[in-house]
Amino acid sequence: TDFKSDKQPTWCPGCGDFGTMNGIMKALANSGTDPDNTFVVAGIGCSGKIGTYMHSYAIHGVHGRSLPVAAGVKLANPNLTVVAAGGDGDGYSIGAGHFIHAVRRNVDMAYTVMDNRIYGLTKGQASPTSREDFETSTTPDGPQQPPVNPHALALAAGGTFIAQSFATDHKRHAEIVQAAIEHDGFGFVNVFSPCVTFNDVDTYDYFRDNLVDLADTDHDPTDYDAAKEKILDSSKEYEGIIYQDESSVSYEEKFGVTENMSDIPSGAPDDAMDLVREFY
Ligand code: SF4
Repeated sequence: TDFKSDKQPTWCPGCGDFGTMNGIMKALANSGTDPDNTFVVAGIGCSGKIGTYMHSYAIHGVHGRSLPVAAGVKLANPNLTVVAAGGDGDGYSIGAGHFIHAVRRNVDMAYTVMDNRIYGLTKGQASPTSREDFETSTTPDGPQQPPVNPHALALAAGGTFIAQSFATDHKRHAEIVQAAIEHDGFGFVNVFSPCVTFNDVDTYDYFRDNLVDLADTDHDPTDYDAAKEKILDSSKEYEGIIYQDESSVSYEEKFGVTENMSDIPSGAPDDAMDLVREFY
């Protein structure tokens, strides 16, 4: 697509991040935006390289801090389509505080988390979503604590779009990310993106065998209680839009942030400072 850069990814052959990125590019193309109007903000980790491999504006930011940077980009220029990306370690450990506040702030952007339930770039340590008994170099007997449930955190923080997809389920993954991009507010998608090098438990086969697509059930994503039930059901792995508040009003809309700050005439510093004071 137009969103593919000419850089060759250095991800391990077979890494789920390839499928995750391809789906994001497809979702962006299908949502009608173009590279000139797209800004990708990534954190640190294997997932963090995504902005380098995409043809768009991008920042490869600080560990766990993609969300405040992405919110700043969107508020500085609300005309951009903003996608923040990261991994489960980046987003739910180092960036957990930012995650909760980004969810409740509801800035209009998509956040895709490449969840492989392991730290890949640093060679296989337990991450916040690793299973309780998953043996890793840092947890020879498993982490011995329950994994973080990111959807529960998002729902508790007032999330307005909460979803999950599977990197290699190309069409469905792209559809779900597109819905997150088009949602009026913070569109959160946890993407199962297997690490073929350091995680031999949460594999492609595991997800293929265990994923339940909510589109094949009678689940109504606008039903808060039904969403809560699905989110707290740890016996299954769900794919699809789990919750969507169709009356969501984005932060920018709520506060009337419509002006691209770079369009503010240079001769009007007072107006610019008023805008900054108003929103920060
Ligand atoms: Fe992907 Fe794992 Fe390799 Fe990182 S270490 S590129 S997550 S397969």
